[in-house]
Order: sequence, then C-alpha cells, then structure tokens
Amino acid sequence: MEKCSFCGREKKDVNLLIAGISGHICDSCINQAYEIIEEELKTTSDFDFNSVKLLKPKEIKAFLDQYVVGQDDAKRYLSVAVYNHYKRLAQVKSKKDDVEIEKSNIVLVGETGTGKTLLARTIAKMLHVPFTIVDATVLTEAGYVGEDIESILTRLLQAADYDVSAAERGIVFIDEIDKIARKGDNPSITRDVSGEGVQQGLLKLLEGSVINVPPQGGRKHPEQKMIPVNTKNVLFICGGAFDGIEKKISQRLNTQVVGFGGSDQRDRVDRKNVLQYIAPQDLKSFGLIPEIIGRLPVLTYLNPLDKETLRLILTEPKNAIIKQYEKLFEIDHIKLSFDEECFDFIVEKAVEYKLGARGLRSICEVIINDAMFELPSEEVHEFNVTLEYAKQKLSKANLSKLKVA
Ligand code: ADP
Repeated sequence: MEKCSFCGREKKDVNLLIAGISGHICDSCINQAYEIIEEELKTTSDFDFNSVKLLKPKEIKAFLDQYVVGQDDAKRYLSVAVYNHYKRLAQVKSKKDDVEIEKSNIVLVGETGTGKTLLARTIAKMLHVPFTIVDATVLTEAGYVGEDIESILTRLLQAADYDVSAAERGIVFIDEIDKIARKGDNPSITRDVSGEGVQQGLLKLLEGSVINVPPQGGRKHPEQKMIPVNTKNVLFICGGAFDGIEKKISQRLNTQVVGFGGSDQRDRVDRKNVLQYIAPQDLKSFGLIPEIIGRLPVLTYLNPLDKETLRLILTEPKNAIIKQYEKLFEIDHIKLSFDEECFDFIVEKAVEYKLGARGLRSICEVIINDAMFELPSEEVHEFNVTLEYAKQKLSKANLSKLKVA
C-alpha cells in the first residue's frame, strides 16, 4: 500500500503522492514543508551580525575571483571596503564604541565593459543584500525633466520588496557618475541642469540622511505616501568611464615629477596605463565637486581588457558565456563542445570590431544561433563547433551591426 511517509495518509486520501527513493510524500506535506522553509528563511534573513560569518578581505576577493577575471587592484580595494562596511554595520548595531567608523563609499573608474557593474553585482550577491543599479544620466534636479534623486531609493526599496530595514543596508550601484560632472570651470554662468545640482542632490544620499521616498517612484503618483529611508548604512558604489581623465592624470604626474626634479622618477611611471595612478584631485579636475569626492573615499580603477583577459572571460568565470551555452544545450541532452581555436577567433573578432567583453556574447550568439534553432528538433546528442563552422556563421553576419554602445 503506497502512503505518505510523513503523515501516513494513503494514496486514495490525498491529491498527489510523489515517490522518492525510499518513500513517498503527499501534496499537503509538501505544502507544509514549504511553509516551514519560508518561515525559516524569513527569520534567518533578518540580519544577525553575530551569526553572520564576517568574510575576510581575502575571502571576499576569492569570491569575486570566481566571477570576475583580472582587475586585481579593484578587487582588493573593494574587498577591504566591503569588509570595513560590514564591520561598521556590526558596530552600529552594537553601539558599544565611541569611535565611529565612517562609511566607505566607492568609486570605480574604468572604460565601459571592463567589469564595474559585474563587480558591484557580485558583491551584492555575496552579501545577500538588496542591490540596485541606477544610471546617473537620467537624474536631474527636482523640477526638471528626468528622474529625481529620490528615485534611486525607490529602486532600492523595490529591490528589497519594500522591506525598509533591508533597503537601509543595501548596495546601490550608480553607473555613469562621470556624466554628472560639471561641464565648465565656472558653474554659475549657465544653469547646469544635469551637473552640479544633481551632484548636490546626490551628496545628501551619499552622506547619509533620511530621505522621503515615493514608493512608486516618479511624479506620476502625487498622492502616494512617502516612506522615510535612512541612507546612513547604504553602500554606494559609483562607476564611470571618465573619458579623457588619463590626460588630467598625466598632467598631474608631470608636474609632480618635475617638482621632485628626478628624471628617474618620471621613468618609473607606466605611461601605457596611467589610470592606475588616479587620485581624488583628478576627479575634481574632471568636474566632480569636492564634497562628492569626499564622500567617495575609496577610489580605484579597472584595466582595459586585453586579448588574454577576453579569452579568459569567455570560458573561466563561474557563469562564463561558453558555460552558459553548454548548459542550454545540456537541457536538450546535447553535449556542446568547441574547438580551442574558436575561442581565439571569437576574441580576435571582438577586438577587431572593438566590441569589448559585451561583444563576446553577441559574437557567440551569431555563431551558435542556427544550431540552437535546428538541433532541439533533431536526434543529435553531440555538437562540436569547429573553427570552420564558426567562421562560416560569422561571415554571414554583419559584425559592425553588433557594436554595443
Ligand atoms: P561596465 O559596468 O564596466 O561597463 P560590465 O560589468 O557591465 O561593464 O561588463 C559587461 C559584461 O562584460 C559583463 O556582463 C561581463 O559578462 C563581461 N565582463 C567585463 N569585464 C569582465 C571581467 N573582468 N570578468 C568577467 N566578465 C567581464
């Protein structure tokens, strides 16, 4: 007689009985078990700093290494900043000390597509905290077309399922922070809608203050009740390409080196990648106001991606593009494989058409799409992509159309 191994009810008394290796479970026991899990997860998600294992910076970096290739300097800075952020939150919670640790908001400078968003996203994944990405270009001063600064927190609230206390320890990634830089040297000549005013607004968030947030966002719902959100413990990670900042860094380096008078010092500067010498005053020369820079104490950079890195990005990270395709085919019971030369070919094309890391995916898509269309309807259990096949598929596509912004 088949019966539920949990409640003992017989098959005829239940709606559904599912067989396991050495027993059965009925639908109502499944429901109950599900409720228990939900309940359990709810209590554990209530952040308890004593029970959370504080990951050490090296462990944080090791976690990042699984998903992000290279960018060691950025990873080290981020790991320390996040570690300190954690410690700070624990301190706020216990209120034992009189030395107050200040928030370490972060700014990442690097070309588009070098992994800034990926780093921020991976950190949030590790910490299990609400995470949102906002684009600084859509922000404008209140009263102008565009989004108010508060909309950043609306997104965070939404990411936290409107759990205010969870949102208050979340992470916000503000992309394209360089786009709100002051355009001219003199801010008062014309009104600079997307520049200084927005920076002033942002400052309030970065510093940590209680902001009244429209839960639905926007100005379309004037009747909505505002939710106060304290940004004191929200970690802000800002990213930007800061096009042309290398020039400002070089200028500064030149004058500094001249100041010291030694020509050997000048030689030690790696001219090919001056971004590594970025300092807060370069952000100021670029047009960020000093107050904002002061609230972004952790400043680090990302390297441009060379061929070697692109090649690794294709296959190495935990959810590397190629691994994703293998998974997709596996679901159809097809073992997908690539000849090694394909990877070099894909990387070469990405470099040739200046498509960067984002382009790797579009190129793969072009190569593999026909197979993804045809094979599921065929009796095929293996598929190997040869260099010849890859070249043939790509020759039909217009690669310049793949160009990503
Ligand atoms: P950014 O924010 O700097 O413009 P992203 O983080 O959005 O760039 O990167 C774009 C895509 O390129 C990511 O989704 C990721 O797949 C890939 N990528 C970029 N840099 C790396 C890297 N260092 N390691 C792994 N993947 C990367």
